[in-house]
Amino acid sequence: MSLIVQKYGGTSVKGIDRIRNVAQRVAADYDAGNDMVVVLSAMSGETDRLINLAKEITENPDPREMDQLVSTGEQVTVSLLAIMLESMGKRAVSLLGSQVKVLTDSNYMGARVVDVDPLRIRALLKEKNIVIVAGFQGCDMRGNVTTLGRGGSDTSAVALAAALESDLCEIYTDVDGVYTADPGVVPRARKLPVITYEEMMEMAGLGAKVLHLRSVEFAMKYNIPLCVRSSFSNEPGTMVVGEGRDMENLLVSGVTVAKNDARITITKVPDRPGIASRVFSAVGDAGISVDMIIQNTRAGGLTDITFTVPKGDFKRALEIEKKVAEELGAENVAGDAEIAKVSVIGVGMKSNPGVAAKMFAVLARENINIMMISTSEIRISCVIEKKYAELAMRVLHSAFGLDAEEI
Ligand code: ADP
Ligand code: ASP
Ligand code: MG
Repeated sequence: MSLIVQKYGGTSVKGIDRIRNVAQRVAADYDAGNDMVVVLSAMSGETDRLINLAKEITENPDPREMDQLVSTGEQVTVSLLAIMLESMGKRAVSLLGSQVKVLTDSNYMGARVVDVDPLRIRALLKEKNIVIVAGFQGCDMRGNVTTLGRGGSDTSAVALAAALESDLCEIYTDVDGVYTADPGVVPRARKLPVITYEEMMEMAGLGAKVLHLRSVEFAMKYNIPLCVRSSFSNEPGTMVVGEGRDMENLLVSGVTVAKNDARITITKVPDRPGIASRVFSAVGDAGISVDMIIQNTRAGGLTDITFTVPKGDFKRALEIEKKVAEELGAENVAGDAEIAKVSVIGVGMKSNPGVAAKMFAVLARENINIMMISTSEIRISCVIEKKYAELAMRVLHSAFGLDAEEI
C-alpha cells in the first residue's frame, strides 16, 4: 500500500462525464489499497472566464480580490468530484487550500508555498477517506486566499506530495507525457520516457506549459519523482527524475518557444561607469524583472543597451526607460513586443560543444535573424521575430534528430 498524490488538470475535469472518468481512475487506485490524495484544477476555461469578468469592470482589479475570485473555479471541481465518489459508494472529502492549510506568502496571483500542514489530510486518510484538495490556492498568514500563478495546481500537488512524504506524484493532463516539443506546434514531437529535473525546469521556464515551473523546482528539492500522463489513456507517461537513471543520452531533448517577453533598446547612451546600473535599477525598483541583456559598443564613446522584460510589464518599462534615457542623454528608446524566444535544452550539451553553432546555422539556413542569445550549461536560447517562432521550432526539432519516425 502506498500514498499516491494525483493531480488532474483543467481538461480532465471539464464537465460531469470527465469528472466521472477521474472518479473511476481514483476509485480503482483506492480499491487497490492505496491512500489517495487528489488535487484538481478548475474546469478548463473557467479561470480565464473569471478573470475576464473582473476585467469587464476594470483593467486593474485588486489582486487580493482576484485571488478570492479565481480560487472559486477549483472549489467547484473538488466538491463535484467528492459528490461523484460518494455516489459511487466511496468515502471522499474535499478541502480548500485554506482548510488543508497550504500556507503561502502574500504575493497575490503568484504566491509561493511556505508550508503545507499534513495533519488534517493524514487524519482523513486514516479514516479511509479519499482526500480531494483544491489546487492553485493557499492562504497567507492573515487568512487571505492566495493563488500560485497560472498553471499553479501542479505546484499544489508536488507541495502536498512533499508534505505527505509520498513516493510519487502523478500529473494527469491532456497529453500522455512530456514531449520533445509542444505536440500542438510540432506534430513530429515524440514522447520522452524520462527527463531530468534540470531539463524539465528549463523547459517549463521557457514555454513548455505542461508543468508549472515551481512544481519542478519543488520536486527536485524534495526528490519526488513526477509522472506526467494522460487522464484519457493508460499510456505509461514520462518520468521526471534526477539525472543518471535510464537516460536516453540525447544531445538535445527538447525545443521550446516562449512568447511572453518584449524587447527594449536604448540607443546611443554615453558609455561610462554607472550607466548600466542606472538603466536596470530603474526597472528593478519598479519590480520589473529583466531577462536577457546585450550591450553593443559604438564609436565615439556611445553604447546601445537591449534587454527583455515580461510583456505584461512592457509599457511600464518603456515609460520608465524613456525618462532614464532623457536624464542620461541617450538618443532613443524603442520597444518591440513581436518577439519569441526559441530554446534547445539537453543535459547532453554539458559534454558536447557545438550545439550553439549548429543552432545558429539551422536558423541562418531559414533566413531567421537572431536578435539576442543567452545560454546556460544545458540550454541555448535565441530571440527571433515572433512570426518565425513555429518554423524555428520545427527546423530545430528536425535538425537535432528529434522527429518521430512517423506521425
Ligand atoms: P492541464 O490543464 O492538464 O494542466 P496544460 O494545458 O497546463 O494542462 O498543459 C498541457 C499542455 O501543455 C498540452 O496540451 C500541450 O499542448 C502543452 N505542452 C507544451 N509543451 C509541451 C511538451 N514539451 N510536452 C507536452 N505538452 C506540452
Ligand atoms: N486553474 C488554474 C489556471 O487555469 C490553475 C491550473 O490550472 O493549474 O491557471
Ligand atoms: Mg497546467
